[in-house]
Amino acid sequence: MSIRAKKRFGQHFLKDENIAGKIVAALSSDSENVLEIGPGTGVLTKYLLENKKINFYVIEVDNESSEFLEKHYPQLKDKIIKSDFLKFKIETIFNKPFAIIGNFPYNISSQILFKVLEHRNNVTEVIGMFQKEVAQRIASKSGTKECGILSVLMQAFYNIEYLFTVDETVFSPPPKVKSAVIRLTRNNIQKLDCDEEKFLKVVKTAFNQRRKTLRNALKVFEIEKNISKNNIFDKRAEELSVNDFVKLTNLIGGKSEE
Ligand code: SAH
Repeated sequence: MSIRAKKRFGQHFLKDENIAGKIVAALSSDSENVLEIGPGTGVLTKYLLENKKINFYVIEVDNESSEFLEKHYPQLKDKIIKSDFLKFKIETIFNKPFAIIGNFPYNISSQILFKVLEHRNNVTEVIGMFQKEVAQRIASKSGTKECGILSVLMQAFYNIEYLFTVDETVFSPPPKVKSAVIRLTRNNIQKLDCDEEKFLKVVKTAFNQRRKTLRNALKVFEIEKNISKNNIFDKRAEELSVNDFVKLTNLIGGKSEE
């Protein structure tokens, strides 16, 4: 029995066992609790099952895939959560630190990362397969052209490593683009040195008009004339590091620069 891939669930099943093993091996040895997003037919899951030290769940939105898993891996019986990850209340399984792993459905990969951010104080690491360009963007250092909203937001709380590129031919059906696996490891920043809600808004607004100088891109914040004289406002979003954004958030919030 095999499964016909469903486009609406972003299904591209990995066929290469070697790569599957490598992805699971990228989990750090101190990750005791693990959540796999989108196990599909279990190509990664079977390597998770081999590791007796971890306590894990898989979350799958496609019932056909879940049935397949139940049939082929009876040991998974109590580990399958039949739900949409984006809607699922993680607290019902983990109220403690855990890692996330997955060959992610590309149509919701940004939303997965936004959810990771919400749970950043429990998500210690993420090993994930993304569309190559998305992976590169997240991993590209803030202050460079490739950088975007997610790069800055993720890099504020995670160290990002680009692990390896994956060819389209190892999937069934093959996606139109190349893929890549990256690892995000929680850094030691518990709280940014600014209002975090505002930081989020500033980063999003600045990148939404990334070609404009910050003075123009951030008009909605109605920045005082005196403050907007600061030459940070001559720059563009992509030129700023995470720390520059923290500084900028404080400036906008009326907190003076030390
Ligand atoms: N891990 C498998 C499948 C990858 S394809 C492999 O490597 O072969 C992406 C998987 O994510 C599919 O199984 C798809 O059904 C599942 N998926 C898609 N949207 C999801 C969601 N919102 N929540 C949970 N799983 C989802």
